[in-house]
Parts: sequence; C-alpha cells; structure tokens
Amino acid sequence: MVLFDSHIHIGQFRDLYSTPQDVFDFLTKVGVDRFAVSSTTTCEGDYAKVVGELKYMQKLAGNRMVPVLWLLPQVLYDGTIERMINSGINWQCLKIHSQLHPEFWKTEEAQADIVSVAKEMKLPLLIHTGEWDGCYPEHFENTIADNPEVLFILAHSRPVEQAIDVMRHCPNAWVDCAFTPPVCVSKMIKCGFADRIMFGTDYPLHNVFYAGENMEDLYHKIVEEIKGSMSEAEWELVSHKNFERLFGKI
Ligand SMILES: [Zn+2]
Repeated sequence: MVLFDSHIHIGQFRDLYSTPQDVFDFLTKVGVDRFAVSSTTTCEGDYAKVVGELKYMQKLAGNRMVPVLWLLPQVLYDGTIERMINSGINWQCLKIHSQLHPEFWKTEEAQADIVSVAKEMKLPLLIHTGEWDGCYPEHFENTIADNPEVLFILAHSRPVEQAIDVMRHCPNAWVDCAFTPPVCVSKMIKCGFADRIMFGTDYPLHNVFYAGENMEDLYHKIVEEIKGSMSEAEWELVSHKNFERLFGKI
C-alpha cells in the first residue's frame, strides 16, 4: 500500500519535543512513503530553530518530505517571509492556524494578506479549521471563492458540514483528514469529494493526546479506519494520488 501523510509535525508541542529523527523513524516504521511537515516550534516564534529542524528533516527524507511554512500573524509584516524564502528550504505549502489567532485570521484584511503571499510564492494554503469561532471553514469561504487560482486545504475538515459546503461552492477547496472522525470522512466521500481529500494524521501530537498508547498500533488503526470509510478506488486517491497531484511526483 502506498501511503502519504499530508499532516505531520516536528518540533516543540507543549511538553513534547519531537526531533526530525524521531518522526522520520516513526514514519518509516509505519510505512509512510511521503509526508508534508511543518514545525510546531513555530508557535514559539523561533523561525531560526524551525529552519534548522526542517533542514535536518530534509537531510533525512530528501524529496520524500514536503516542507510546509507555517506563518504567524506578525511575520506577514516583519521581514520573516523574505528570510524564509531565502532560507534554503524549498517550501511547498503555507499554513495558518486560525485557532491560535482567531481574531486576526477572521478579518478580511489578514486573509487578503496571506493570500497575496500564497499567490506570490505560488503555493497552496493550509488553514487549520475546527469547531471554534474564528476557525470555522465558513469564515474563509469568501476568500476561497474570490481566489480560484489559489488552492486551499481545510485541515481537519471540521465541522464537516461546513467543509462540505465550502467544497461544494469552491472547486479550489481541499481538505485533509487529520483527527477527522471516519464517519465525517465517509460523508465527504459520499458527497463526491474523493479527489479533494488527503490522508493526514497530525502525528506526533498523538503522543500528547493519547499518551501511554502504542503509537504504531494507533497509527495503523487510524489508517485502517479511514481506509474503511471508502472504496479501494477512492482510497487510492486519498492515500496518495491527490497528494501527488498537488505536490508532484518524485
Ligand atoms: Zn497539525
């Protein structure tokens, strides 16, 4: 089975520090061939550390990794983006976290500013979505609809009814299924969106949320449950073909 994970992290998350080596070894063990990765160290605002972590991962994984540049609100305006463009990392996706800064990302101005970065860098934009005011998919629908040339990925596809609505209205809206309940994935599949859903897990955050569990078993269980919510042909798309269509073949 070919398996790509579109939502992976390295770095500091609460009390957990996951080195690129830890995460790379784990992904290799569970049979993940390619992955998109951002660093949760970003939340500390230490972009020099983030670059170091991603370069280390690049050394380990080469082109099997898709580096994701996570942008905090302040770095849109302080020269960090230019430094990141010149960092030597071949960024292939941008990310924003609307739950960490809901008031900011909710505004039309902030959304216009991040979209102009995505256009300039010609990269897709991953948006954290969830069940909190400020990170509902519908907050971003106008921006997504107004910018058909940019591809948007609604991370976690939550709440799923809204993710479905946005996908219905906007062909440039995709989702990942990190922490998405299989029943919700199955709903999106039934609506005909198999070609816009990417498998993803948010690993290694499970070490915090499911401390004490066997991570390999847990990962395999997640794969089996998501796989079980669709047909073989749809799983081909979700497990790796959509990822390949977006980030290219290697
Ligand atoms: Zn995540």
